[in-house]
Amino acid sequence: MVFLKDPCGIACLSFTYVAILYADFVVVRWIIIETMSDSSWGSFNIVLFNVILSLLLVSHFRAVFSDPGIVPLPRNRLDFSDIYSTQKNDCGHTGWTVCTKCETYRPPRAYHCCICKRCIRRMDHHCPWINNCVGERNQKYFMQFLLYVGLLCLYTFVLLAFSWTTECKVCGISILDRQARMMHSIILLLECILFGLFVLIILINQVQAIFEDETGVEQTQNMGNYRPRKPRLALLSDVCGRQYPILWLFPCTSVSKKFDTPLIDYHV
Ligand SMILES: [Zn+2]
Ligand SMILES: [Zn+2]
Repeated sequence: MVFLKDPCGIACLSFTYVAILYADFVVVRWIIIETMSDSSWGSFNIVLFNVILSLLLVSHFRAVFSDPGIVPLPRNRLDFSDIYSTQKNDCGHTGWTVCTKCETYRPPRAYHCCICKRCIRRMDHHCPWINNCVGERNQKYFMQFLLYVGLLCLYTFVLLAFSWTTECKVCGISILDRQARMMHSIILLLECILFGLFVLIILINQVQAIFEDETGVEQTQNMGNYRPRKPRLALLSDVCGRQYPILWLFPCTSVSKKFDTPLIDYHV
């Protein structure tokens, strides 16, 4: 289990949880109870909304606390003096390089993260919203988190639209309740637009990068992809696991270590 003590990451994490709990409170208290409590649709929507929300929290928890694919440090301190003097960073194994920041040998496609202060295998980017790097071992959970946030935003839009076209029981009785319901609905709508658009853009970007067989780091550094072209399904299963594709949607299965980038014997 990993957890970084990065103030920006911890602030973003706290904001995420407050936003999620607030959305749940408004949907249940001010939308569903006020407009659907006398039919079984009310209970159905409360259960469905909270099931998706639980999947979101589990995938987020796993993205936050999973090892993203940290390259272990060598068992013994290695002599890097010649590498510092010649600026040559090839260590002799095909595609392997030396990271002079954390002083380790790293496999191809591993990059150094300045916030985690370690090299991460297949590093995509460092994400403050999960206070962790997105890499080989947790990209699947990160994408599930984006998917569930997007799904909940869509669901909330539908519930909001329904509640605005349906008569509210308390609004006719109390002006204060009417104003509170209106205020919470507007804040929730803005929250959904903001988060919905944000996750949609990142999710499209993630899927595009996977289909291009490039990580976020490689895209920004414009390194060029000289690897042989793989089918899209194979590229997706590299990231999401080699199970049935339906299981890619659920945060319950683990990413098998069997398919990790192999390490050389300095580490194992
Ligand atoms: Zn490094
Ligand atoms: Zn990082």
